Amino acid sequence: MTRGYAQRHRQSELNQFGKSLTRRAKSSCELCGVVHKPLSVFEVPPQTTTPELERCVYICTTCHHQFDNPKHLDSSHWRCLHNSVWSEVPAVQVMAVLQLKQLQGKPWADELRDHLYLQPEVEDWLARIH
Ligand SMILES: [Zn+2]
Repeated sequence: MTRGYAQRHRQSELNQFGKSLTRRAKSSCELCGVVHKPLSVFEVPPQTTTPELERCVYICTTCHHQFDNPKHLDSSHWRCLHNSVWSEVPAVQVMAVLQLKQLQGKPWADELRDHLYLQPEVEDWLARIH
C-alpha cells in the first residue's frame, strides 16, 4: 500500500463524518463561523489509528488554507478565535488554541490566551500535540 493510497483512503473515511459534522457545525465553519462556504473535514493532531469523529473539525477553505500556510497568517481573520476558543466541542477548542499560539505576540491574542480557561481534557489533548 503506497502512502498516497493510504492518504486517500483516510480522507474518504474522514469524509464519511461530513453528515454528522454538518449537523454539529450547523452548516457554518466551526472556527470562523462563516456560512454558505464549502466546508471540509480536518483532523486535529495527533492522528489516531482510525479516524474519530470527535477528533475532527469542520472548517472552511480559508481556515484550512491558513493552517497549511502558517507563514502567511491573516491575523484579522483569526479574530474569530474570540468565539471559537469557547466552543463546547473539545476538537474545535484545541484547534483554536493551537492557532492562538501561532498568533503569539499579537496583544489581543496574548490577552485572549491569558483569560482562557480550558477543561482538563483539552489541556491533556494539547499536551499530547507538543
Ligand atoms: Zn473558517
